[in-house]
Amino acid sequence: MSKLKFIIPCLILLLVVVFTSFNPGTSVPGTSSGELLQEYYPHNAEGQPNTDPNEPTHEAYEYEPEDVQAADSEVFDYDDYEEYVEYPVEYTEEPEFISPFADMLHTHGYLSERFIEHLNDYLPNRVSFSYRELETAQWIVEQLKAMGYEAESVEIQEFSLEAGHLSTRVQSPLRSFYTGSAILRDYSQNVILHLPGRSNQKIIVGAHYDSFYYPGASDNASGVGLLLESAMRMRYRDNYFTLVYVFFGAEEVGLIGAYYYLYNLSDEERDNIVLMISADCLFDGAYMVYAAAYDANGRYGTNTMTESIDQIARRLNTEHNTALTGSPRGVNVVSDHLPFLVDGHTVMVLFSADIIEGGRFRMRVFHSDRDDIHYINNRWPGRIEASLRSFSMLLEEVLLQD
Ligand SMILES: [Zn+2]
Repeated sequence: MSKLKFIIPCLILLLVVVFTSFNPGTSVPGTSSGELLQEYYPHNAEGQPNTDPNEPTHEAYEYEPEDVQAADSEVFDYDDYEEYVEYPVEYTEEPEFISPFADMLHTHGYLSERFIEHLNDYLPNRVSFSYRELETAQWIVEQLKAMGYEAESVEIQEFSLEAGHLSTRVQSPLRSFYTGSAILRDYSQNVILHLPGRSNQKIIVGAHYDSFYYPGASDNASGVGLLLESAMRMRYRDNYFTLVYVFFGAEEVGLIGAYYYLYNLSDEERDNIVLMISADCLFDGAYMVYAAAYDANGRYGTNTMTESIDQIARRLNTEHNTALTGSPRGVNVVSDHLPFLVDGHTVMVLFSADIIEGGRFRMRVFHSDRDDIHYINNRWPGRIEASLRSFSMLLEEVLLQD
């Protein structure tokens, strides 16, 4: 996940580091932040200030100095990069088997963390349009089948880089980087699980599984792990809404999987969406944020769905000590929900961040080599468990509404 207000400086920083290191002399086609904001910033179009002083803002974002140092010292070497995405992975040891029946035995979030560990240790560097990304998609399909889902309910939706024309503005800076040097496959793919409910109305539950060339524990093995646990839990529940889990590919190069998925739905299918959820970067800070809103002409619209989500979160905080923080402004983050938000749908984004001076969000590990489950567990013991437990409980309650 990245945030619109800081993605530009971050991209510039990243691209400077990257291009200086292994693609010297290549120029990056410019995309002004004005263009980006006009097209994709769904709120605050007239520069309206935040009306609620207590609510965190995304007005600015800064890396910690050590982030910059980490990025600087990172070996952005193309030979290494190729090595990262070589296919297939050679396991140094057999991965732990993740039991599909363990959900009855463990607390919320336990299974998510097992999935995340696996992605972190055995499937790092899930770069968009790489073989590693494909291998990760195949692994997700295997997990769903191991849960007992029939082959007919799991779909792999392949798309080419050209599908990215749907999101040209957002992706162009990164796409030029990738197409310039590192696109290894012509295709990426979404993995889609259909779980029918009593109603045709549906909730899309999304998380991207591609990453930068890091373990990508928070961004976004965390969202994938959460969805896998949820799919496991919901299999035997009586859900009113039809649930569609979408594991998106190629998010990091411009939300391509999300755009492709949305724009390939029929009008009727689009009309039936009552909520789109995106889980992205679930342990990048101390605050567990849920952002639920729809775009009401540049403002954060509330409706019965967002009110219901607020009620659920408040109840969980009171009864289960979950410490969820509601922030409708959080829908401004750039993740797979954006195409849906712009298309008029109600969305809920789950992410975590620190809240610093001035109420700004700061993310601590994403897009750096610190985005590693072992590093995070060492530096902030208990954070991952607390986050996954809270988000898993919230997600389940939201999916069980009728
Ligand atoms: Zn992400």
